[in-house]
Amino acid sequence: MNITFLGTASAQPSSTRNHSSLALHLGGDVWLFDCGEGTQHQIQKSRVKMGKIEKVFITHTHGDHIFGLLPLLASRLNGAGGTTDGTDDPRAQLNFTQQPVLEIYGPLGTRAYVRNSVTYTHTLLGSPYVVHELRSPSDPQHGDFTALNPHNFELPGRNIPQVGGVWIDIFKDGAVSVSAAPIHHSVPCVGFVVTEAPVPGKIDPEMYIPDLKRTKTPMSAMRRLQQGETMKLSDGTVLQGPPRRRGRKIVILGDTFDPTPIISLAMDADLLIHEATNAHLPGVDESTKESDTYESVEERARSRGHSTPQMAGAFAKRILAQKLVLNHFSARYSGGDTQEATRLMGAIADLAAGEFGNEVQCAKDFMTVEVGLNIEQ
Ligand SMILES: [Zn+2]
Ligand SMILES: [Zn+2]
Repeated sequence: MNITFLGTASAQPSSTRNHSSLALHLGGDVWLFDCGEGTQHQIQKSRVKMGKIEKVFITHTHGDHIFGLLPLLASRLNGAGGTTDGTDDPRAQLNFTQQPVLEIYGPLGTRAYVRNSVTYTHTLLGSPYVVHELRSPSDPQHGDFTALNPHNFELPGRNIPQVGGVWIDIFKDGAVSVSAAPIHHSVPCVGFVVTEAPVPGKIDPEMYIPDLKRTKTPMSAMRRLQQGETMKLSDGTVLQGPPRRRGRKIVILGDTFDPTPIISLAMDADLLIHEATNAHLPGVDESTKESDTYESVEERARSRGHSTPQMAGAFAKRILAQKLVLNHFSARYSGGDTQEATRLMGAIADLAAGEFGNEVQCAKDFMTVEVGLNIEQ
């Protein structure tokens, strides 16, 4: 389980930071979170495999988080612009028995945005897609939020109602589940929580092998014990496998100045990814105005729906996170490897760590973060 940052800029991209996107690797699969402009170029330059992308989660429909979705969808699904008369393009006839190859999740408007863009660009796709929307109580609960009919390549998606202020298990299989909650920004925005199913505990074979041998129990029993099962042997001895350990939890937030509605889902995260658009760095950042104070910078960040490193650090502490990675930086904070950039980003991480009291890293484009199991469990 690891995350590769594909874009870490806020509103303006720069030569060192692309617009928002990150790739979560789960075994062989890749899930993208946000897909700003240029994301597919970033994928080409990274180790992320385009053909492995199965799901895309959109935090909000601001352009810097969604403008790259259409080009990515077209590439992933073998899109093309059709052919002139008399030439057949197999993509013109969709096989409706196909399963969606790409699943997209996002707030109200995501489906309409994708449908309109695919339709008006005359894009033919080689495989279908589906868009599931997270509907807030103030949203229309049904329908597609566009008068345009579904595109031939779009399969019917779910409109997922909020229950108790959150969206539980918008996706779930035997290995992992995804839930979401609204977070406060200048427009409707969500944070996602990816939770791994409990994993088998560490097994000490010496604890079990003598009993298995004595009772001539096949050694394949170890596999069941490893899964945490209880077994009764032929002589009445009861063996109990090691208890399963809690799986990893990753919290990926969209833009926000206050993510408190996601607290109940986000508690005890192994990794929190939180934006830190603006920072006050007198003496470190040369562009700091004399009139700036921490309070004025925070006030400005909040008024635009964003956070400072201290706000991100305080939230990480509140949810008892193990680790915090900051992203979505203002264009003035370079993502390069120069001494100046390293010093500036180190100072930003320190501001967050001062509140958090735990490990903080500032994301750079193409940086990969491993999400390890919490060994204290
Ligand atoms: Zn943004
Ligand atoms: Zn935004």
